[in-house]
Amino acid sequence: MGSYRPTTYIDFSIDKNRAAFEQALAQVRSEFGQHYPILIGGEAIELETTFSSVNPNNPQQVLGYLSEATVEHAQQALEVATDAFEQWKRVPVRERASYLQRAADLMLERRHYFSAWMVYEVGKSWAEADADTAEAVDFLNYYAEQMIRLDESADGMLVDYAPEHNELRYIPLGVGAVIAPWNFPNAILVGMSSAAIVAGNTVVSKPAEPSSIVGYKALELFREVGLPAGVLNVLTGPGRSIGAHIVSSPLTRFVAFTGSRDVGIRIYGETAKVHPGQKWLKRAILEMGGKDAVVVDETADLESAAQGIVASAFGYQGQKCSAGSRAIIVRDVYETVKDRVVELTSELTLGPVDDVENYMGAVINEEAFQKISEYIEIGKGEGELLHGGTVANDPETEGYLIAPTIFGNVSDQARIAQEEIFGPVLALIPAEDYDDAIRIANGTDYGLTGAIYSNDDERLARAKDDFHVGNLYLNRKCTGALVGVHPFGGFNMSGTDSKAGGPDYLLLFTQAKSIATKK
Ligand code: NAD
Repeated sequence: MGSYRPTTYIDFSIDKNRAAFEQALAQVRSEFGQHYPILIGGEAIELETTFSSVNPNNPQQVLGYLSEATVEHAQQALEVATDAFEQWKRVPVRERASYLQRAADLMLERRHYFSAWMVYEVGKSWAEADADTAEAVDFLNYYAEQMIRLDESADGMLVDYAPEHNELRYIPLGVGAVIAPWNFPNAILVGMSSAAIVAGNTVVSKPAEPSSIVGYKALELFREVGLPAGVLNVLTGPGRSIGAHIVSSPLTRFVAFTGSRDVGIRIYGETAKVHPGQKWLKRAILEMGGKDAVVVDETADLESAAQGIVASAFGYQGQKCSAGSRAIIVRDVYETVKDRVVELTSELTLGPVDDVENYMGAVINEEAFQKISEYIEIGKGEGELLHGGTVANDPETEGYLIAPTIFGNVSDQARIAQEEIFGPVLALIPAEDYDDAIRIANGTDYGLTGAIYSNDDERLARAKDDFHVGNLYLNRKCTGALVGVHPFGGFNMSGTDSKAGGPDYLLLFTQAKSIATKK
């Protein structure tokens, strides 16, 4: 065990903290409208073709202009990364780790600045944005420490076979394509990129289009701390062109992707192909969607269960892979839990998230707004509308606001109980008893997170075996995994179960070399 501890969150009920965050928001506003380059081989290259990033709470407000990389830039970045790998792989592990630690220190110093950018670019509330920045800092510090542990534990792991000396060394893979989602624009992008780098690989990283400013700024920190040129190259632009290119290129040795199921499956297929000139079988690290459930039985503390359901469903507008979009409630307590969940939901505040009073803001963009609205219409035919159901488009700003929506008496096979909506829509599903609830919970294609509220120790013990999810939470909400505490990743269509932020994660970015020396 090293000295790593998760970063504590900021308490925004304290005046001083609120004032500091207001100041960061003002700073960020003063930077609206700037242009951002791509980074290849340590050079910042500003392109003529740009795309804009806007505020989901006020889509007319342009936050900045991103250089739109092409396939040619992607190819150039891969070539530069291929060259840089030859030196970087020889840099001692402690030196590699020191870049992550310095980037962590800088991010912590500018914590509110990064979080304030997330408030504007992806519509995170202050608390959600702060948690995202804290997680990015944690990934940096944790992976730095873990890589040192992995490197230093390599000796002494094998069976003694004296006089022969045997060792196992974890060496890097090569050039990686890192492709990130917009919903944890700082933490997930920084986490995947830093894990790859500290393990000795070089990378081409691509933030998701709607969160490209945060992504660029986070990865730019590595340049600031002097990471050698070419180790981390950053491309902003469309996934379907540059993302696809860095996945399929024969120069790419591995892909680290977090995003939707459809894109994950497509990448899985692409990485399996061996292209002319390719000398290896690519490794694919793929983290995808979820249809996560909170189960409540008749022995549970119902107040805490209702609070857990609401926080899991509506935190960051339900736009988390871990969001508890299903609450599966044993019939005996269904009415009580339902009433309390609706009551707590009606207390949630909705509006532009630069105002600390708003718990929920807009969903990410027009496309998400349309998709979620369609699911709400589908839900009206599949369940009983208990709360929300309206799209509360802000008339002044046209922000993509959607009221937290709850459907009751939903069947376990309904579309809103099976498909990832990725918005503030919760399905309440009655179950006959505890066993039925677990059966329903396991009855989707996914297996990411799940929670159970129960006071029956025997059931909780059984759930550890029976509830098939990568992250199981007993008597607490199903969101909010902490780096090093709750290694994160799911089963089945939720991905390859990489367990980001866990002790095994870095193994995915290495290959082991067994060395025998005859004395
Ligand atoms: P997305 O799949 O639309 O996009 C993810 C990334 O893939 C983006 O950078 C995008 O540009 C890129 N991309 C798109 N098409 C591509 C292609 N053909 N080839 C290569 N790259 C391509 O996902 P999103 O909307 O950004 O994120 C939301 C999804 O991510 C949800 O499904 C959510 O559950 C999932 N997610 C999962 C986890 C997890 O740890 N399991 C964490 C966060 C988000």
